[in-house]
Amino acid sequence: MAKKKKKKELLAFPRVVERPEDCLGCGYPLEGIPAPGLCPECGLPFEHGLSGLQIAGVAKKSAGPTWRRAVWIVIAIVAFLYGNLIAILFINSPIIALVILAALIAGVVGMALTSPSKKGVGSEFFTFVQGGFSRWPVGADPSAREFRAWDGVNPGVVLKPVSRVWASMSVVQFDERGKREVLLSGGFRCQRDDLPMVQGGLIRLMRGESIADDHELIERLNNLHDPEFTSV
Ligand SMILES: [Zn+2]
Repeated sequence: MAKKKKKKELLAFPRVVERPEDCLGCGYPLEGIPAPGLCPECGLPFEHGLSGLQIAGVAKKSAGPTWRRAVWIVIAIVAFLYGNLIAILFINSPIIALVILAALIAGVVGMALTSPSKKGVGSEFFTFVQGGFSRWPVGADPSAREFRAWDGVNPGVVLKPVSRVWASMSVVQFDERGKREVLLSGGFRCQRDDLPMVQGGLIRLMRGESIADDHELIERLNNLHDPEFTSV
């Protein structure tokens, strides 16, 4: 397994996971607390046994703040204007020209250094449970977890094949007035043929049903083979 990892850093296929060691909501360590139970820190319930469906993927919109997009747009506009006016600027006031250049470089470097996706090319874990789903960047501290409860009406998920082992995922819910809200949109590794099974498991969790006793589903989901390693 270690060899595989070194060779190619692939995202894991979806799988059914046990109650997490740390709370899915706040990252509080739950070791020693019997399941089912409630997190003593934030009150989020957790189940017994294999109760969550974990998907590793890349979200279109990462968990980071939305102001970043605005900052990138400002940098792009300034860079565009600067590129067009650079000759005039340098002739008239070379100091201002240099200051703007320095500010542009500082802006780009600063944004790159603070990028939330600098580790692991932005891949995240999405863990779906009966009450909602938690997400966190791969390799992040448990305190980075963000939990989103199913608080709308009729949450749903649409999975579509993109390639042989890559699929898109869209998790939505509706408010009382029927307004659609996209909770999660992104891509993950999963074979085309396995998508209906993953979707079925997700929908059951969204309805508040447990999958912990569905041994067939767990057995099948946790033995998804990887064609890149098994086929010739
Ligand atoms: Zn908690």
